[in-house]
Amino acid sequence: MIWKGITAMKPVHRLAAGAAVALLAGSLAAAHAAEPPSPELRLFREIYKELVEINTTDSTGDTVKAAEAMAARLRTAGFPADDVHVLSSGPRKGNLVARLRGTGARKPLLLIAHIDVVEAKREDWAFDPFVLQEVDGYFRGRGTLDDKAMAASFVSILIQYASEGFKPDRDIVLALTADEELSDSPHDGARWLLQHHRDLLAAELAINEGGGGALKDGKPARNSIQLAEKVYQSYRLEVKDPGGHSAAPRAENPIYRLSDGLRRLAAFAFPVRLNPVTQAFFERVAALEDAEVATAIKALLSGNRDAAALAPLTLRPTYNAQIRTTCVATQLEAGHAENALPQTARATVNCRILPNEAVADIERALVAAIDDPKIAVIPIGAAVSSPPAALDPEVMSTVERLTAEMWPGVPVIPTMSGGYTDSRWLRNAGIPAYGVSGLFSDPGKNGVHGLNEQVGVQAVYDSRTFLYRLVKALAKKPGPATN
Ligand SMILES: [Zn+2]
Repeated sequence: MIWKGITAMKPVHRLAAGAAVALLAGSLAAAHAAEPPSPELRLFREIYKELVEINTTDSTGDTVKAAEAMAARLRTAGFPADDVHVLSSGPRKGNLVARLRGTGARKPLLLIAHIDVVEAKREDWAFDPFVLQEVDGYFRGRGTLDDKAMAASFVSILIQYASEGFKPDRDIVLALTADEELSDSPHDGARWLLQHHRDLLAAELAINEGGGGALKDGKPARNSIQLAEKVYQSYRLEVKDPGGHSAAPRAENPIYRLSDGLRRLAAFAFPVRLNPVTQAFFERVAALEDAEVATAIKALLSGNRDAAALAPLTLRPTYNAQIRTTCVATQLEAGHAENALPQTARATVNCRILPNEAVADIERALVAAIDDPKIAVIPIGAAVSSPPAALDPEVMSTVERLTAEMWPGVPVIPTMSGGYTDSRWLRNAGIPAYGVSGLFSDPGKNGVHGLNEQVGVQAVYDSRTFLYRLVKALAKKPGPATN
């Protein structure tokens, strides 16, 4: 019974695997875009369009407006006013928290998506970033991928569950949040809601952005589920000196001293360490790699820490970042005049710390690597620790089952991000967050955070279907009554 909506919605997924592959390949071509969407997908597209067309940038946009618009959608669909809250942390900084009530047999499931977007200047773009366009099989506009597809999916699937009379075992809580895209904003909705409305967000687990599908040569290649993020912490390195006239230089010079320290840092590498997430990542990714990298992965997984054996990994920046903490110089500033000895030399060092390593230990290792007591090492801001989510069997098996059904042969890859999302606030608050969307795009070509953001129309619809099925499966255990 609970699958009624789905069979009406997307018959392609009921086909045998071979036929589904052929149809899926076809669905990625433009021809499929002409297929009239189901009523559920039509409603989704209306909501998606409304959300993309509300400018939610920090400079001129308004997330209150977007949160209000989504609240109106839910109220119109019959959600009681008591279960739909628009909560603002300030002008133009709005969040929505809504709830579809379940039986309460299990603790709630939280669905979270941010509704703010990265700045987009009309004059730089090839099209208006705040008008949703559908061109050549792609949705175009700021936020079409990051993160309004997921936000609109969540709103529309809640409406669909309500219309179907779906009664989950647990409340499904939806949080649409502000300021995720700003690196350290007091208005970050996930952080602010956890600080001020903690009970509204109480949940056993959360589904967020951060994962997603990767296309290779236009075809789905991997569906990732983000379970961990590295911890972000920057340091200011600083050397002070009385200075003086540059016509009478001395051996002691803050620029030279700092440079020497930075050179020692450049030659230093943090130890190689795996955690359950990166372990699972490498186990699965080995099969997708060429022989040289696969051999190095095998060595890594067998506990080999020999630099030469691991070189095929350490020489690839993305793999290197998976196996160790990194700290890199990113900014440099020194001196006050061309004809004066410098009084100050400063560098910024940005660290991305493995989520199960202590920040204090990394700081000690950094100080030891720089190895000069005259170079002060000062933390910039405070790191937000972010323990990895466990490879929960229920979540993993559900994601794997749905991925096999919708994209036969495409592996599910657990990932640890080098960057961060709002999942760090959730994990820090004891809510394991799973970054998974089933939204396939072409990494590097989708314009996320950059120009001309776009994502395939069918990919968005398939992601919406995937999320509908995933959330439904996680919100209600199959029992005798539903079998
Ligand atoms: Zn995002």
